[in-house]
Amino acid sequence: MSVLKINNLHKNYGKIKALNGLNLEVEAGQIFGLLGPNGSGKTTTLGIILGILSQTSGDFEWFENKYGNNPRKRIGAILETPNFYPYLDAIDNLKIVQRLKGSFNDDLDAILEKVNLLERKNSKFRTYSLGMKQRLAIGATLIGEPDVVIFDEPTNGLDPQGIAEVRTTLQDIAATGKTVIMASHILDEVEKICSHVAIIKKGNLLATGPVGAILSQQITLELGAADLSKLQNILNKIDFIGNSSKKSNFLECLISDENRIEELIKLCIDGGVIPTHIVKRKNRLEDEFLEITK
Ligand code: ATP
Repeated sequence: MSVLKINNLHKNYGKIKALNGLNLEVEAGQIFGLLGPNGSGKTTTLGIILGILSQTSGDFEWFENKYGNNPRKRIGAILETPNFYPYLDAIDNLKIVQRLKGSFNDDLDAILEKVNLLERKNSKFRTYSLGMKQRLAIGATLIGEPDVVIFDEPTNGLDPQGIAEVRTTLQDIAATGKTVIMASHILDEVEKICSHVAIIKKGNLLATGPVGAILSQQITLELGAADLSKLQNILNKIDFIGNSSKKSNFLECLISDENRIEELIKLCIDGGVIPTHIVKRKNRLEDEFLEITK
């Protein structure tokens, strides 16, 4: 089922085009990462789909319109979470969130267990580490049993341990069948947490799909041999090798399946060419992403 469909979304802030015809689709059960460098329009997108900001043009649809104009009750988001009270404990802070959301049937202990704070449920918020504060905020999004939870840069400012804990928490939430949408500018984080990704740059969609397909499978190979044109003739005939191009003293090509490198070498040798240089490089989209985030 489609959870969110964004069609040709534009948002201008005066002369700044924050979103420039963005299209996206999120399916139920995905952990969907909105990946892009600072200023690419991630927060703007989340603001619009949560009804906090209005778009300049374009539209979006939640849950295939199943809940009509009132889908917000099915969505939990950190953007909407109030600041917690420092002198109250986790339970009392969550009770305040319940009151704000008009939701009173939640099992608060179960929520705190999910975000690994049950043991500290009676500690005052001000005694929490940054990671614990962030996990309480994640817990607050679960109040009202939403189908979708949305986070903007959920690991911002956390140390490696805090990042790992938030990562596990988000995966645990997704494992209960909820859809998770998160914005991040960190490629590694999206690769580790998300099942699907959309890479955006200057308010445009650059690529979208399963994380494995978009971020890690397309490997660039450098292949060298004494006779490069003979090598190129062989590569042109191999269906799992993309177009090869000549660099200074080797050829560069994309291989769709990393596990077929051995087969590739055998095909070269059978064709009378012995590869003298083989280098496997991370995929080009990753290179491109690192380039734009510089
Ligand atoms: P970040 O991770 O830095 O928050 P982002 O990808 O979430 O980045 P947005 O915050 O959506 O990006 O910003 C997109 C563009 O819109 C940027 O150029 C930003 O400066 C601009 N922008 C955002 N909010 C406003 C505003 N209220 N007024 C003017 N320009 C804005």
